[in-house]
Amino acid sequence: MRRKRLRAVLFGPQGAGKSLQASLIAERFGVPLVSSGEAFREEIAERSALGDLASEYVDAGMFAPDELANATLGRKLKALDQEQGFVLDGYPRNVEQAETLDRVSRVTLAIQIKIPDSVAVKRLAGRLVCTDCRTVLHRDGMGSSSGIRPCPICGGKLAPRPKDEEETVRRRLAAYHFMTEPLAGYYRQRGVLLAVNGEQTVTDLFEELNRKLAKLGFVA
Ligand SMILES: [Zn+2]
Repeated sequence: MRRKRLRAVLFGPQGAGKSLQASLIAERFGVPLVSSGEAFREEIAERSALGDLASEYVDAGMFAPDELANATLGRKLKALDQEQGFVLDGYPRNVEQAETLDRVSRVTLAIQIKIPDSVAVKRLAGRLVCTDCRTVLHRDGMGSSSGIRPCPICGGKLAPRPKDEEETVRRRLAAYHFMTEPLAGYYRQRGVLLAVNGEQTVTDLFEELNRKLAKLGFVA
């Protein structure tokens, strides 16, 4: 089979482990990882016109509107070597953004990581956040709530995420189903959808993705 360029997007509900798989794939295939969150933070740090606009949404904890997301990520993608490929995390978030993206650079693989809402809620409820470096970790293996170990990154204090988290998570999941999940139909029609089960360990999921990507003709 002819070697295909990996121009991949990943989508899945919060808690599916999407960002982690995105960075693992980017590393394995030697392609740049483009994260929407990072792209916005860069624009904000540069105090560009896009960044000033983006900061209003980021400060309010809201998703950027389509025009802003398309402009920010479009700018980022156009700066890349198109022959090298990329892995996108956090963009596109809806079908309109996916259509815009296809006009900038045609996606060759869309990975959908699926987990039930109940699993997403359970995973996110068990998260700890470092009060110093803001790293988010799962409670498993970090000791009991009475004796939580320090942050493995910076040695700071780990604390459970706030109590209202579950309500927030459920709202985000509802938004995901309504807004982002229709990407599956869009990319299925394009013939580039790869749906995988996110209810497995990070390592197992990454191995499954590696096998399936190889079968599809993507060579690391
Ligand atoms: Zn830390």
